[in-house]
Amino acid sequence: MANKKNNNYTGRFAPSPSGPLHAGSLVAAMASYLDAKSHDGSWLVRIEDIDEARTVPGAADAITQALSIFGMRHDGEIVVQSRRKSLYQAAFDRLAGHTYACGCTRKEIADSRLATGLRFAADGAAIYPGTCRNGLGVGKIARALRLRVPEIGEQNESITFDDRWLGPLTQHLATEVGDFVLKRADGFWAYQIAVVVDDADQDITHVVRGTDLLESTGRQIYLQRLLGLPTPSYMHVPVVLNEVGEKLSKQTGAKALDLDNPLSELLRAARFLQLNIDHADSIAEFWQKAIAAWRQRFVGNDGK
Ligand code: GLU
Repeated sequence: MANKKNNNYTGRFAPSPSGPLHAGSLVAAMASYLDAKSHDGSWLVRIEDIDEARTVPGAADAITQALSIFGMRHDGEIVVQSRRKSLYQAAFDRLAGHTYACGCTRKEIADSRLATGLRFAADGAAIYPGTCRNGLGVGKIARALRLRVPEIGEQNESITFDDRWLGPLTQHLATEVGDFVLKRADGFWAYQIAVVVDDADQDITHVVRGTDLLESTGRQIYLQRLLGLPTPSYMHVPVVLNEVGEKLSKQTGAKALDLDNPLSELLRAARFLQLNIDHADSIAEFWQKAIAAWRQRFVGNDGK
């Protein structure tokens, strides 16, 4: 079945190989796959192993094998972030004037927050108080590299975008995020810069991922603007939580998917995405029904 590809749609699934695919990551994979397929677009897979400290050997292969058992075929080559560090360095170099070296330890940031009033981002992370913005203090050594976010009143002070699941959203960078890390104290590039470079390099037009990443979107759009890169359309779908309300992950005790019963796992993930598919006799029939249901719900007559 050689469908004609829609060149105006390229989506992606971008798992971090910190463990095998689980019920939560299957939902994210499914949503991005369904959106791409229901637009007749391309669907790419990118392994986000830039945080090498969290990468589990063998996890990337386990994820790609699971995707193939679930009948999710990707287009093009699988891109692996740990092989692309020179691209992140080149993007960082283009941000000169907006970045600075930071010598603060976590403890110092926590202590200075106590002095300047508590400020936490929505995801619970510390909002950096800007201590090293105007240069490293005496005796400090550079640890991380940060991006300065606009002050109140400056251009791009707040970032607004129209989320295809959640509707219009605005994030105020100075008060909700703060100056954020692009290169970490341990020498690894941060997710925010790698994802922006790769989404642009792979010509991603539509990002579909979990709401756990919603807090990052303002930062990513700001980076796109500074780097002169296009902003894709965003859709953040609900994330699967465990009994105590934590996002599923290996750390929070996510159970392995039953790869001997892929159809029942697919039906469960589809139910979570509120797609009404009560039954399918085969994986192929499942995808046929799921794509039709997604298309009816999310793809307008104009194909957007
Ligand atoms: N690698 C990220 C994760 O597994 C997803 C990144 C993204 O979709 O932007 O949580």
